[in-house]
Amino acid sequence: MSKIKLSSAHLSGHELPYIQAALDENQVSVYGENLTAFENELEHYLAQDVKVACTISGTAALHLALMLANVTQGDEVLCQNMTYAASVNPVLYQKAMPIFIGSEQETWNMCPKALEEAIKDSISAGKKPKAIIVVHSYGMPAKMDEILALASQYNIILIEDAAEALGASYKGQKCGTFGDFSMLSFNGNKIITTAGGGAIVCKNEAAKNKAIFLATQARDQAPHYQHSEIGYNYRMSNINAAIGRGQMKVLKKHISLRRENNQFYKDAFAKIKGITLLQEVSSGYISNHWLTCILIDEDETGCSREDVRLHLQQHNIESRPLWKPLHLQPIFAKYAYYGTNYCEKLFKTGLCLPSGSNLTTQEKQRIVEVIASFLA
Ligand SMILES: *Cc1c(COP(=O)(O)O)cnc(C)c1O
Repeated sequence: MSKIKLSSAHLSGHELPYIQAALDENQVSVYGENLTAFENELEHYLAQDVKVACTISGTAALHLALMLANVTQGDEVLCQNMTYAASVNPVLYQKAMPIFIGSEQETWNMCPKALEEAIKDSISAGKKPKAIIVVHSYGMPAKMDEILALASQYNIILIEDAAEALGASYKGQKCGTFGDFSMLSFNGNKIITTAGGGAIVCKNEAAKNKAIFLATQARDQAPHYQHSEIGYNYRMSNINAAIGRGQMKVLKKHISLRRENNQFYKDAFAKIKGITLLQEVSSGYISNHWLTCILIDEDETGCSREDVRLHLQQHNIESRPLWKPLHLQPIFAKYAYYGTNYCEKLFKTGLCLPSGSNLTTQEKQRIVEVIASFLA
């Protein structure tokens, strides 16, 4: 049986002409037609009034967002606990201090109640947090009304980590357009890929230009090399943008295929007691269902999450536990955490299933049969 992967790159066949044109024109570096066009297409896709700058990774884009938000040494940044470490590492690059916020039970994202508690505590200790980084984990939009209200009430910069959520939306507005700054990832496992890459989404041209300035070694206007700020080599190449342009042609298709995967699993598991899926809480939430996630109730199924994961592995099917809560990671253990033990429960019982837009129906059937026969 061939291996079924969790989420692998899905090329469209439209990439090569753009790559070829870049090679023919000798535009292989960080300037060129593909880069400009890819950014324009992303801006057009996301919203009328956003400005996008592409970077070598989502992590680099998030680092730029923190710099644009003026996050510096000793600043407090409120971070989502149930997510990938890349969502928090840039806070440490800036020598700032993450404070972890636990999950609510409906979207598994940042809990607004815990967030407010953390903000109030910081303020009463005489130190207002500098920024909030909210994540739409697995493509599920976070509770944006509540989180935006808190950011505005306490006047804190909101950064949106939409690495997994391109194409998801909340009350009709695309994820990646809510934050003062937002970030996307085009890593190989995400909704679309540029082989490796990301983007910072800004609210105006000046912020975009500043992001590009910092991402291209912060060169001042001068005929020689002149620098007054620390620069980074974070800009996306025109070759990676070529892949992105080819991928933009299939973005909508990739989203509907991921959503179809989710529906397939939902129908299949409706008959199995003790398995529940992460689902949109109301019609205002549209997840791109980047990954389909299930919770396995050990009392009802008689099997733990790890039993199921190992069984899938034996059948050459890759699955993965949900994020290990970041406050339990050795590197982050010394920072404060606000929230319940719900994150731990998610980690203990949750599993991400193969969810790529290139999964075949036969593969999905195989996955569901392997799980169903194991639990029976
Ligand atoms: C993938 C991802 C990132 C990092 O993006 P890269 O392009 O891999 O650097 C950050 N945050 C989240 C939530 C992600 O899933």
